[in-house]
Amino acid sequence: MSLTSSSPEPHPVPVPDPTGSTDGHRRAELVSSLAGVRRRIADACAAAGRASRSVTLIAVTKTYPASDVVTLAGLGVLDIGESRDQEAIAKVSDVARLLGLVGGDVPAPRWHFVGRLQSRKSRSVAGYAHAVHSLDRIELVDRLATEVARAERDPLEVYLQVSLDGDPDRGGVTVEQLLPLADAVEERAELLLRGVMAVAPLGADPDAAFADLAAASSRLRAEHPQATAISAGMSNDLEAAIRQGSTHVRVGTALLGRRGPVFG
Ligand SMILES: *Cc1c(COP(=O)(O)O)cnc(C)c1O
Repeated sequence: MSLTSSSPEPHPVPVPDPTGSTDGHRRAELVSSLAGVRRRIADACAAAGRASRSVTLIAVTKTYPASDVVTLAGLGVLDIGESRDQEAIAKVSDVARLLGLVGGDVPAPRWHFVGRLQSRKSRSVAGYAHAVHSLDRIELVDRLATEVARAERDPLEVYLQVSLDGDPDRGGVTVEQLLPLADAVEERAELLLRGVMAVAPLGADPDAAFADLAAASSRLRAEHPQATAISAGMSNDLEAAIRQGSTHVRVGTALLGRRGPVFG
C-alpha cells in the first residue's frame, strides 16, 4: 500500500465489520491458534485417560481488544479471563456493545477475573465477573460477598488461590490457610466455592507444582465435596496441569499472541 499521487480521492476508510475487526486476517489467526490449543488440550486429555470435555478453556485476553473476545465467542470460546480490573471493565462494556451490533447470534461470554485482586476493586469486579480465581484472603471474602449482595446478582463463583512457592507476594494461601478460607466462603450465600487455582512457580517443575495443587484440592474436597474445580495450566504448562487433574486451563499467549512486557 503506497500513498501515491495517482488518486485524488482521499484514502478510503476501512469499514469495520460489526465485530469491530477491520479484516479477516485476525479471525484467521485466531481460528488457527484456537485449533492448536484445542488439539493440545485433547492430546493431553487423551494421554491422561481423560475426556476432553473435562477441561474448560479460559481465553485470557488481557492486553487484547474486545473484538478478539467477540471473535473467540463466535468460535465457541465463552469463558474469558482478565487480570486487571481497569482493563476488564472497559472491555466488558465494549464486548456488550459489539455483541449488540451482531444481533444476538453470538452468546455473551462469562468473565473470569484471574489476576491479583485489590479489595477496593471488589465492587467493580462483582459488577461483571462470573468467577474470581484469585481469592486468597478473608478480607476479600467479606468484601466480595457484600458487593454481590449489593448488586443483587447471582452468586459469584470463587476459586481459592494456592501459593505453590511460599512467596506471599505472588498471591495465594498456604495449604494450612486453605480450609479456614474455604469455611469463610461457605458461610456466604453470595459466593459459590468452586475449587482451587494456582500459577506454577517460575523455573520449577510444573508437574511437581501441580501435583502439590492436586493434593491441596483433595484436602479441600474432603471437607467441601462440591469444590471440584482445579484452575491450573497456562500456555507453557497446560499439558502438565492436565496430567495433574486441571479442570480449567487459562491460556493467553498461545491463543492471542505474545503480549508486551507490561504483563510479562
Ligand atoms: C496472563 C495469565 C494467564 C495466561 O498466561 P499465558 O502464559 O499467556 O497463557 C493465566 N493466568 C493468569 C493468572 C494470568 O495472569
